Amino acid sequence: MQMRTITCRIESPLVSEYTWVMKVFAKYIGFNVQFVDGNEDMLIAEHGMGDIQVSHFFRMTYQSGDCHFKSYFRKELLHYTASNKPDYLSTCFYLLSYLQEYTDYHPDQYGRFPFSNSIQHHFDCIDKNLVAQYFTLLYEQTPKLKQLVSKKEHASVVFLSHDIDSAYGALAENGKWLLKHGKVGALMQLIFNHYVRTPDHLLLDKIMQIEDAYDVKSVFFWLARSGRGTRLINNADYNLSDSKVRSIQQHISEKGWVNGLHKSAGKSTMTADYNSVREFAEPVNRNHYLLTELPGTFNEIEAAGIQMDCTMGFAEAPGFRNSYGLPVRPYHFKEKREYNFIEVPLHIMDTTYRYYRKESGKEAERLIIDFLEHNPQDAVISILWHNNYFFDRTDTSWLDAYKAVLQYMHEKQIKSVLPKELLEEYL
Ligand SMILES: [Zn+2]
Repeated sequence: MQMRTITCRIESPLVSEYTWVMKVFAKYIGFNVQFVDGNEDMLIAEHGMGDIQVSHFFRMTYQSGDCHFKSYFRKELLHYTASNKPDYLSTCFYLLSYLQEYTDYHPDQYGRFPFSNSIQHHFDCIDKNLVAQYFTLLYEQTPKLKQLVSKKEHASVVFLSHDIDSAYGALAENGKWLLKHGKVGALMQLIFNHYVRTPDHLLLDKIMQIEDAYDVKSVFFWLARSGRGTRLINNADYNLSDSKVRSIQQHISEKGWVNGLHKSAGKSTMTADYNSVREFAEPVNRNHYLLTELPGTFNEIEAAGIQMDCTMGFAEAPGFRNSYGLPVRPYHFKEKREYNFIEVPLHIMDTTYRYYRKESGKEAERLIIDFLEHNPQDAVISILWHNNYFFDRTDTSWLDAYKAVLQYMHEKQIKSVLPKELLEEYL
């Protein structure tokens, strides 16, 4: 369907900021936006003549270099103009651009922006796709726009992935337990797999078989470095040159699944890590331990030629780190432009439930299905299930939870997507 073009004039010093967020808004509603100096369909201005009115106070605070959310949002996560009108556009700019992470903060033990410092934690809204809600309200409350275009629908889809942190960890993780519980046959099998055949954690064909049964596919993210990285973080317990690893990666591509980069924790650059995997991997990345520091991380991703990053989620809580469910090209504050890659944020991760929230696989299953149920629209829901969670002989509830999620997707006809489709749509 041909999309309608709407012309827009921005009467504010924040031209590039509002241009960027208007483009995200236009994509969401379903029109092309063109910026002009006169004869416009819509005016964005700080005064009451604007079709979309933006806040003078927001601009002054932003220009002062203050990034802390408390300077913009007092009682609720919505900024208001001086005449007490909701300023959806500026609010969405703040959230979508991850501006809160550009302030000074006390990082967690891994140097990350902690969830407990976030605006989503403060206003208890990590599970809310607020930007989509605000975009809809902005559309509803802008009569001129409503006259010209009708709003597009976005049925939610799911993006599945597996970070391969461990290839040889199954024996250490399961051996003792099997011995203690007298499961000698299983223990012998585990030892045989470990030393002779393929170690349990590399039985990725089994993951693909499970997914294939539900007609979905996924991405496997591989660490380019092994051993101890920075901040006492372990990188891979495998080596990319291992012939077993290579043949599995090849098998993944041949079957139509995807290999990507899992950027290691350490001093090697994103470019160096990507160069180590580019022979078999697509230009898709997620950082190990979700390590990020803005804007450095975004700059590195772009410099390495990565086209799609999947890192931006909070390890401590499931949900929307930038309060939006759909991918965007992030905003480059210094150069006042969008980056050349898309960020497909992470929403759901096994370890969040198991280690950060001490929940069982059964509880995780219920919470994830609940999350899917509450977000039937407006999201590319990104789910990370580590490979070792499929082969945990001590607790199979994590494997069951994953299968239950796929079963739910199948029943509700929720499609799974791969990077190619996301890049076509959002880059
Ligand atoms: Zn990892």
